[in-house]
Amino acid sequence: VAARTPLIAGNWKMNLDHLQSIAFVQKLAWTLEDKKHDFSDVEVAVFPPFTDLRSVQTLVAGDKLPLKFGGQDLSAHDAGAYTGEISGAFLAALDSAYVIIGHSERRQYHGETDELVAAKVAAAHRHGIVPIICVGETAEDLEQHGPSAVPVAQLRTALEGVVAGKEIVVAYEPVWAIGSGQAATSAQAQQVCEALRALIAEVLGDDAAAATRILYGGSVKANNIAGFLKEPDVDGALVGGASLQLEEFASIVRFKS
Ligand code: PEP
Repeated sequence: VAARTPLIAGNWKMNLDHLQSIAFVQKLAWTLEDKKHDFSDVEVAVFPPFTDLRSVQTLVAGDKLPLKFGGQDLSAHDAGAYTGEISGAFLAALDSAYVIIGHSERRQYHGETDELVAAKVAAAHRHGIVPIICVGETAEDLEQHGPSAVPVAQLRTALEGVVAGKEIVVAYEPVWAIGSGQAATSAQAQQVCEALRALIAEVLGDDAAAATRILYGGSVKANNIAGFLKEPDVDGALVGGASLQLEEFASIVRFKS
């Protein structure tokens, strides 16, 4: 099995303006450097609002800080008359390593379909950005279809957008666990992440499946992160609420210590 460097990704959602983002990122970097965090051992990425990205880039640029960053969404289009949308070209120009695609809040509040998610995955790959493809079932889906069916179906369509040979990250985020304080158990996360990896093997091949990082997301905290990362198919976490709490997020990143 290829080594998969764990990735801890902080999704800030609609929190922190550009000035607050500068203060937060500086303090986060100092806190982690103070603890001698090895960023090649556990990768750290933050996902601020679009209006913060230039500020974060300026702080991080030229490897001044070892943090990665990216957008919380992007347009399926590259340019043109799409009022309010953000092109992958713009994210790439700001050195975004990653972009979150298909977060359940985008699906729920903005009607994003699996097909649109696939188109956005293709857009990210056109611009050399690694998509973090979010999938996950609602409580109702879980009751009706069991644990893996809905996330696997969502990912199957999303993978249609993948450009052959390009990296993806997948985030399994059960909707019922997001922001609820009720995380999945690590066994539940493992079961679905294993099914998602099997699908990646089927569609993209064994090498891609072995190389792809699959994150768990949904009420991840400092006190449950280590359990998730012990599972063989969980390669990191997408963290919402706790990513805005400096010490808590730093402790999540430092899950090995
Ligand atoms: C998320 O929104 O991606 C998320 C996992 O949120 P939380 O950690 O707050 O549950």
